Amino acid sequence: MTVKITLSLPKKVFEISGENVYLCYQCGKCSAGCPIADKMDYLPNQVIHFVQMNNEKALSTKMIWACAECFNCTVICPRGLDVTKVMEALRIIVLRKGIYKLDLNKVEKIEELPQIALIAASRKLTG
Ligand code: SF4
Ligand code: SF4
Repeated sequence: MTVKITLSLPKKVFEISGENVYLCYQCGKCSAGCPIADKMDYLPNQVIHFVQMNNEKALSTKMIWACAECFNCTVICPRGLDVTKVMEALRIIVLRKGIYKLDLNKVEKIEELPQIALIAASRKLTG
């Protein structure tokens, strides 16, 4: 069965990640298995629900930036939804609006930081 995704936010997420958020039936297993769930403002399944409801609040959560891309949620999801890819797609949507989460000019003692950390942070937090 082919499902046509018409709402704008789920559609954008699908175009970027290839993931259909409507696969999710809100069992909560992704959140139960997330190692940093207690540090997040919203849980992974709540963010997925925002996307399902076309609620742009998904784009302003701290959760999408806190996500460590560990793939636990993706492995555990009984519906085969790649939650990690959805979180990445949400970050890309924000970055494409020109809202960057890291200004290298404001990083203190930048010369003392490991280059790999700077590269990883730049890749994740800037466009
Ligand atoms: S584990 Fe999958 S189906 Fe369950 S809430 Fe998370 S994304 Fe939805
Ligand atoms: S990929 Fe992100 S949301 Fe998923 S379990 Fe890891 S930290 Fe949590």
